[in-house]
Amino acid sequence: MSPSTDPGRPEPDATTLAPPRDARPVSDRGDTVCVIGAGASGLTAVKNLREHGFGVDCYERETGVGGAWNWRHDRSPVYASTHLISSRPFTQFPDFPMPDDWPDYPHHSQVLTYFERYADHFDLRQHIWFGTEVIRVEPVDGDRWDVTTRSTGGYGPERTSRYAAVVVANGHNWSPKLPRYEGLEEFRGEIMHASSYKDPAQLRGKRVLVVGAGNTGCDIAVEAAQQASHCWHSTRRGYWYAPKYVLGRPADQVNDSLLALRVPLRVRQWLYHWTLRLTVGDLTRFGLPKPDHRVYETHPIANSQLVYHVGHGQITPVPDVARFHAKAVELTDGREIDPELVVFATGYLPRFEFLDPRVLGADEAGRPRLWLNAFVPGHPTLAVTGLVQPDSGIFTLSHWQTVLFARLLALRVRRPERAAAFAQRVTAGAGERYSGKVKDSSRHWFEVGHADYLRAVQRAMHELEDK
Ligand SMILES: Cc1cc2nc3c(=O)[nH]c(=O)nc-3n(C[C@H](O)[C@H](O)[C@H](O)COP(=O)(O)OP(=O)(O)OC[C@H]3O[C@@H](n4cnc5c(N)ncnc54)[C@H](O)[C@@H]3O)c2cc1C
Repeated sequence: MSPSTDPGRPEPDATTLAPPRDARPVSDRGDTVCVIGAGASGLTAVKNLREHGFGVDCYERETGVGGAWNWRHDRSPVYASTHLISSRPFTQFPDFPMPDDWPDYPHHSQVLTYFERYADHFDLRQHIWFGTEVIRVEPVDGDRWDVTTRSTGGYGPERTSRYAAVVVANGHNWSPKLPRYEGLEEFRGEIMHASSYKDPAQLRGKRVLVVGAGNTGCDIAVEAAQQASHCWHSTRRGYWYAPKYVLGRPADQVNDSLLALRVPLRVRQWLYHWTLRLTVGDLTRFGLPKPDHRVYETHPIANSQLVYHVGHGQITPVPDVARFHAKAVELTDGREIDPELVVFATGYLPRFEFLDPRVLGADEAGRPRLWLNAFVPGHPTLAVTGLVQPDSGIFTLSHWQTVLFARLLALRVRRPERAAAFAQRVTAGAGERYSGKVKDSSRHWFEVGHADYLRAVQRAMHELEDK
């Protein structure tokens, strides 16, 4: 495979290879790389592969760029009030800053504008097939891939194209993770997953139970505090609710200054505990459970308003749900409450329905076994990007993952023996963590500390460099 200068799209009547496995023609796209998805991660993959000289075909099931941040998309998880949780400089791509006059935490509509500008600035749209869903990705001929697509929604014929490499950038915030509770099917009230929550009008005047204390669960509880007739917030354990600002700066920027100074985790934890003690104080005073872990051991919850509304009696913190009854919800402390609406803000699970799970080495729960959360043991021409949950923004990490992958693909041509050595590195390192000491739950499968993670990517870049 060599980097191609062909910016072209697959020709419907391109050279067909014989004999196709299932009697359908396969169009050979030569050295072209396929990218699945045109959200943040897919866009930066297209850009970085093009900059390294590769032809790219990107398939996007929706009709626009922006992935999760495009509220028009039927799988978009954003709601009317979604703002970035990570601050602007820690979210933007390193080579495309957000405007200086944007706020520290831009609104989701601004984030979408940002992606649209990124796509236009780097002229990426010409490489994207919109409204086209990837339904199968199969390894063939050693390191090549047959990618089968069709129009989103299942219309039109299937089309299979053969690629030199594939980047999977299909996102991991769209397939709801739903908890199982005894009696749930008997419950007569309304039930929804946070993925269907779009507007505070859905909460107005209702007795609402929000289950889950991720950033989304806390946001919805805060909205329910202002819109619902009552809000209960159910959490399994106690959490640290960190303010979005510390010393007048976005909290992630303060944390990053400490990371840059290589302040050890223990000291950072101690400083953070003190900051929380001085600002929020003792959480149990508000009726919130005492956290059973130190800060940085669960994904950070950045919410300055939750404790405020608890303190104003607009949110009642409650423990986990024990079971559902027709008209009530029983809690693990024996209490019963009577919500009309239950919102499960219980997160998302990754889904790669177009790939045999064995290709990604996925375990029974569906968690892939990768190196740097991106590189696939035994498949040097396949990479996943964006499958990270950092203590900062994701976009920078996706950028560097795809730069590394593009360099690896280029090296396979120039120095195949070095690329082969790197492949061994991928196999040896699969499953490595970059997250210090986080709790072992599906919520933290992809948790990475951005500083440790980027250092590991940098080391990998050096390993790849031609000498
Ligand atoms: C409420 C909320 C707040 C968040 N806040 C932040 C934040 O502050 N900072 C941050 O960095 N991240 C945040 N995130 C995480 C968010 O997922 C990432 O910012 C970002 O969307 C990841 O980009 P991605 O391209 O990897 O995935 P996505 O944005 O999900 O894009 C994936 C794309 O792939 C397409 N696709 C999927 N399957 C197929 C297929 N089979 N064929 C063709 N196309 C396909 C989808 O249509 C989509 O366009 C937040 C998430 C949520 C839910």
